[in-house]
Amino acid sequence: MAIQVIGVSGLPLIQKGDDLPALICGRVTLEDGDILTIASSVYSKAKGFTRELSAITPGADAVRIAEKTKEDPRFVQAVLDSSTDILLEYPFILSEVPSGHIGVRAGVDHSNIEDGRVIVLPPDPMAAAAEIRDAIRRIVGKDVRVIITDTCGRSFRRGQTGIAIGWAGMTAINDYRGDTDLFGHVLQITEEAVVDEIAAFANFVMGESHQGVPAVVFRNCKAWKGHDAVYFTPEEDIIRAALAKNKKD
Ligand code: GDP
Ligand code: MN
Ligand code: MN
Repeated sequence: MAIQVIGVSGLPLIQKGDDLPALICGRVTLEDGDILTIASSVYSKAKGFTRELSAITPGADAVRIAEKTKEDPRFVQAVLDSSTDILLEYPFILSEVPSGHIGVRAGVDHSNIEDGRVIVLPPDPMAAAAEIRDAIRRIVGKDVRVIITDTCGRSFRRGQTGIAIGWAGMTAINDYRGDTDLFGHVLQITEEAVVDEIAAFANFVMGESHQGVPAVVFRNCKAWKGHDAVYFTPEEDIIRAALAKNKKD
């Protein structure tokens, strides 16, 4: 069956307290097995994971980093507050957030929100995905899979893509290890990060600016089996180790 991809348009500007799953269900007819992707920006706005810059007093680290990056020190403080580990300060802050995701400026956004406010990533995006999934089941009685996305830069390549920061009803990875290729070779390495592949295409449908399409539905996607250990452990992560070594030198 052909995979169908449906952008959910017609949603309002999301405010704190909005019932996002109900609003989505009002604009698209969901089916069992659908994969519903939601931009983290709108999830965060609905839940109030935003900050008013005027209410932030930057500390010494924020002021020091902001001088290098030429950013608003209050914005830098918001990034530091969202971070559990700073991997790089300049030319941009690269940091880890509580979920294990590593991203530029900790995913703190000042686009698609009023002047003077920033959107921060949901602190527990896995729980966010599970919560949306449960809400959809409650509202329309359908068993959907959910991915919370964010737009992220990549190492080695120019250009941003969508990635998954939280998911429910599926594993992050489709583990092909032990499977055989067309010639009978046993695959030793291949773990496909399916949630990121779907998030990337969702991001393409959403756009990045005024399109107003914060949710995308994928219909007729197969199921897969694997695991959720998508983040390297610090011991496995050679790039992180190299950055840490570079910091010390
Ligand atoms: P992010 O990738 O999660 O940081 O989100 P973006 O800011 O890139 O927005 C992704 C999509 O959602 C774009 O189509 C935006 O126009 C749209 N979007 C963002 N905020 C809202 C909102 O409050 N309401 C609606 N209807 N769309 C929004
Ligand atoms: Mn974002
Ligand atoms: Mn985006």
